[in-house]
Amino acid sequence: MGRPPAPRPQLRRDSIDGENHGECPCDYNQAAVRAGGGSKVSESVISVSELTRRFGATTALASVTLSMPRGAVYGLVGANGAGKTTLIKHLLGLLRAESGSVRVFGLDPVTDPVGVLSRIGYLSEENDLPGWMRVDELIRYSRAFYPAWDDGYADELRQTFALDPTARITNLSKGQKARAGLLLALAHRPELLVLDEPSSGLDPIVRRDILAAVIRTIADEGRTVLFSSHLLEEVEQVADHVTMIHNGKIVLSAPLDAIRESHRAGQRVPSLAEIFIALVGMAAAPAREA
Ligand code: ATP
Repeated sequence: MGRPPAPRPQLRRDSIDGENHGECPCDYNQAAVRAGGGSKVSESVISVSELTRRFGATTALASVTLSMPRGAVYGLVGANGAGKTTLIKHLLGLLRAESGSVRVFGLDPVTDPVGVLSRIGYLSEENDLPGWMRVDELIRYSRAFYPAWDDGYADELRQTFALDPTARITNLSKGQKARAGLLLALAHRPELLVLDEPSSGLDPIVRRDILAAVIRTIADEGRTVLFSSHLLEEVEQVADHVTMIHNGKIVLSAPLDAIRESHRAGQRVPSLAEIFIALVGMAAAPAREA
C-alpha cells in the first residue's frame, strides 16, 4: 500500500445549526434552527463560516455557514453535484478555504491536521482500501495511526460485520469492503464520525440495520455524526438534524422534527423527499431510495 489510510472522521449524533443568509426559501428556517441546536450551549464540533469554493466556472459552495454542536446526527442531503463532498473535504483539511473559515473542534483542519484527524472517523464513497492486505493485516496497520484504537471494539465490529480476518481485501465484495471501511472509521471511537455517501457501497442489510445501529450507538454515547446522502428516506431514519444543500447553497438546515412540523398539512406530515422537491423542484431533488 502506497499511502496511509484516508483520514477517518468519526460519526456522532449532534444537532446541526445552519444559517442560509437569505438563500432559504422557507421563512421558518432561522427560527427552527435557533430552536434546535441553538438552545444547546456547547462547543460546536463543526463551525463553517461564509465558506465559498469555486472550481473554474463552477461554484461548488456559495457562502455556506453552518454550526454543528456536539452529540447529534446531522444529515447532509443534496442531489449529485450539490456540494456535499466539497464541504466534507474542507472539514478534513483536504481542501483549503478560498474564502470564509472552517473549524473542527475549534481547530483549522489545514494547519492542524493531526489535532483534527486523530479525533475523526471517516468513510468515503470511494473507500479506497489496500487490496493486497488481509482483513486482519489492515486492522493491525490502521491501528498504528490512532492512539485511541480499541482492539476489543475492532474485533467486535469485525464479527458484527461478518468479516473473515484472513480474507484479502481485493476478494471482498463491495458491501464487505464498505463494512471494513466502516470498521476502520469506528474502531478508534472517534468524537466525530463523517460518512460521505456511505450507502453507495453498502448492501441493503448493512444500510438498514448495521449503519443505523452504529449511528445510534455513537449518538447515544454523546458523540457526533455527519452523514451525507442523496437517499432522503435513509437520512430521515437516522438524522436528528437535516441540512439540505442545492447548487452549493444551504436551502434548509433545521432539526428534522421542526422541518416536518413546518410542512405538515393537517394530519399529514410529508416525507423529507416531498419537502425537498417542494423547495428545489423535482428535477433537482436527490434520487429516491431503490
Ligand atoms: P455527489 O453526490 O455526486 O458526490 P456532491 O454533492 O458531493 O455530489 P461535489 O462533489 O461537492 O458534489 O461537487 C460540487 C460541484 O463541484 C460539482 O459541480 C462538481 O462537478 C464540482 N467539483 C467538485 N470537485 C471538483 C474538482 N476537483 N474540479 C472541478 N470541479 C469539481
